[in-house]
Amino acid sequence: MDKIIYLDNAATTKMSEEVLNAMLPYFRETYSNPSAIYTFAGEAQKAVDTARAQVAKLMKANAEEIYFTGGGSESDNWAIKAAAEAYREKGRHIITSKIEHHAVLHTCQYLEKQGWEVTYLDVDENGTISLDELRTSIRPDTVLISVMTANNEIGTIEPVAEIGKIARENGVLFHTDAVQAYGHIPLDAEAMNIDLLSASGHKLNGPKGVGMLYIRKGVRIHPLLHGGAQERNRRAGTLNVAGIVGFGKAAALAEAYMEEKTARETALREHLIKRILAEIPFCRLNGHRTSRLPNNANFSFRFIEGESMLIMLDQLGICASSGSACTSGALDPSHVLLAIGLPHEIAHGSLRLTLSDETTTKELDFVVDELVKIVGRLREMSPLYEDFMKSQEEKGNTNV
Ligand SMILES: *Cc1c(COP(=O)(O)O)cnc(C)c1O
Repeated sequence: MDKIIYLDNAATTKMSEEVLNAMLPYFRETYSNPSAIYTFAGEAQKAVDTARAQVAKLMKANAEEIYFTGGGSESDNWAIKAAAEAYREKGRHIITSKIEHHAVLHTCQYLEKQGWEVTYLDVDENGTISLDELRTSIRPDTVLISVMTANNEIGTIEPVAEIGKIARENGVLFHTDAVQAYGHIPLDAEAMNIDLLSASGHKLNGPKGVGMLYIRKGVRIHPLLHGGAQERNRRAGTLNVAGIVGFGKAAALAEAYMEEKTARETALREHLIKRILAEIPFCRLNGHRTSRLPNNANFSFRFIEGESMLIMLDQLGICASSGSACTSGALDPSHVLLAIGLPHEIAHGSLRLTLSDETTTKELDFVVDELVKIVGRLREMSPLYEDFMKSQEEKGNTNV
């Protein structure tokens, strides 16, 4: 493949070289199983301990509260299923939002089939939940609130500290899917009253297939996997030592460079947003204008299909993502874009561009220049656009 312009960092990130170098010794040199008794095992165990401390520090938690998993989806499944199970004598009601990742939504739907009741909170046009609606949704039998820290499609950051406060005041557990937020914005388990938090290595320049669940000390939760005594009897399976070491290194780097990275990415994002809104007509920015992830920009372009845009961008080596998911052969508009109130046809014409700290202004300028042409070309072929322009002319509206 020729040089690519990678603007899909919400899907995954490139592993940093420091992370790779930190991992390498744990494949062929210190390859021991950390659970064993001999000294050689102790070396791997020490590396895991260091990683656990690094991962905990990034969210101001204690190392003993971190449980390594196989990624964000596993952590979400574990948190929700196991908390529901552990607190079932209290009740069978869960509160979540309509814009969660499928790892949360589909887990909640699974529990509904098992007899749990789930309230799906609405969001406003920016993608923010209503704290009042949250308060009034809490019932005596509510056992869990699960609301994401930041949305993976539109980048909106939820009022996590306020949600945590409400949960705590009402004696309800609070889980947050922080997979997009962890390592990208500051998090504080204590100050935000978080009981359970999911994160994943590959969303912060770490390796794929490793994640963690933060479980606040004192929170009861059943294991998801049964077997050996790893992770204090809560998550069986030989530890993915190299992956864990890489995740730890990625967390340490994210902490060291967060401020710098945020400033850089925010400036790039604003440049991108400004140009696109100014140069492409009938276009809107999705997600909260300011309370959003530094690297996320999400747009809807009227009269076109997101998929067609992606294909044309791909021909130029540009990796992006649209707001449609191809499920069972049909193109469904994203549940997130529908939840913020976009009509189907506008949700279909959406484009998500998520930057990294390696993204350059030159790359973004190239993308915008090409996007202007692509949107123009696709609209020329669109009967909807033609009808719209005709109707505007008939109204004598020349300023469209
Ligand atoms: C990527 C993502 C997940 C899934 O994480 P994996 O490690 O890929 O399983 C869950 N939630 C959100 C918000 C994500 O962005």
